[in-house]
Amino acid sequence: MPVTVRLFRGGVHPKEGKELSCSEPIRTAPLLDKYTVILHQHIGAPPKLLVKNKDKVRKGQVIAEKAGFVSASVHSPTSGTVKLVNCHGPAGSHTPAVEITSDGKDEWDDYVKSDPDWEQLDSNECRKRVEQAGIVGMGGAAFPTSVKLSPPADKKIDNLILNGAECEPFLTADHRLMLEEGEKILTGASILGRILGVDKISIGIENNKQDAIDKLRETASKYSVEVIPLRVMYPQGAEKQLIFAITGREVPSGGLPMDAGCVVQNVGTAAAVADAVRERKPLIERVTTVTGKPVCNPGNWKFRIGTPLSKVLELAGGIKKQPAKMLLGGPMMGMAQYSLEVTIMKNASGVLLLDEDEIAQFGSQPCIRCGRCVEACPMSLMPGTLSQMIESEKFDLAEYTNVMDCIECGSCAYVCPALRPLVQHMKRGKAEVIANRK
Ligand code: SF4
Ligand code: SF4
Repeated sequence: MPVTVRLFRGGVHPKEGKELSCSEPIRTAPLLDKYTVILHQHIGAPPKLLVKNKDKVRKGQVIAEKAGFVSASVHSPTSGTVKLVNCHGPAGSHTPAVEITSDGKDEWDDYVKSDPDWEQLDSNECRKRVEQAGIVGMGGAAFPTSVKLSPPADKKIDNLILNGAECEPFLTADHRLMLEEGEKILTGASILGRILGVDKISIGIENNKQDAIDKLRETASKYSVEVIPLRVMYPQGAEKQLIFAITGREVPSGGLPMDAGCVVQNVGTAAAVADAVRERKPLIERVTTVTGKPVCNPGNWKFRIGTPLSKVLELAGGIKKQPAKMLLGGPMMGMAQYSLEVTIMKNASGVLLLDEDEIAQFGSQPCIRCGRCVEACPMSLMPGTLSQMIESEKFDLAEYTNVMDCIECGSCAYVCPALRPLVQHMKRGKAEVIANRK
């Protein structure tokens, strides 16, 4: 098997921190008394609520349905009674949610059952099941998967790439999933490949996960999937960088993976696709890494969507010291959280607690023009310069200087000795450009 040594430009080598949880097998969280399912969990239009207070629902039942082409349905994580609430969302503000008080029976909706004839399904029916299951990108992006599986007629897709890079420090959920549920991932890959009608399916894995590479290679050829080891470099798992490393193709500025003939899906998403097509099982649970020095028992857990962070930390044995920061996701792209009421969503790859010595100790300083951010940027941007344009609200200039190509990977902020809030500036700049275009 060839070893891919090609690397994208830029990138950084943050401390990995994966040793805390990479050897911990996935544990399934017990049934809880209550789940709080946030309705708008994906990129795109919020789904339309289908239930009201005191309704009885079953596990896997649709509680809010996809409302538009870029949208995704949301399902009940157990059987029980509905209460409509507003809860703490991951972005800090309150957001509409459905609270399900469990009846303890955990009974599936009649629709969810295994289909012995699933291999005879045509690609349209497979795509429909993915859509009905409410699957979104589980690596963090939360982009509705059915949309990625419906490219415009003028875009020829010939490559499906599964993202098993898991380049975010500390996170090991995908690593464990590849070790423990490799067959399901490969089945999902071949279903996705069939839907897209591609010539080639690859799975890219950073070579700090050699056991996962070896494990998947045992059976990958049976599914016509090539397992490709990748050099360790952040952000290897970003779509554009992964496409370049595996195919040598560059996604044009402002373009999408499909402009390079590729579709990229996370390995967790592929596993969810296998469940949806073989068993009509909706996305109501996911594997999440719970980790960081303050956590008593770091590990990898299968949590149902709607599990509060308070319960997540309790299941991980609690905390041994007060964390300085709590993140949903990894340290590079994760979102800081301020409430334990926030619940696990479909894209929650990790819950990470950091202590004082792991986070920046001092406030941001003026740029010293050292150029390190330019060297680190995998998109060949000038983050320091862009940051100053955005601070002085020169959004037109920022757009001209390609701020929209920023993939928000955080590599620039990681290397900046002045601790400039570069990613926040990029996010603001992109949002202003989008608002100005409307
Ligand atoms: S400017 Fe954007 S793409 Fe470049 S390193 Fe910073 S966050 Fe990553
Ligand atoms: S790394 Fe920080 S200090 Fe150096 S040029 Fe970039 S923004 Fe300025």
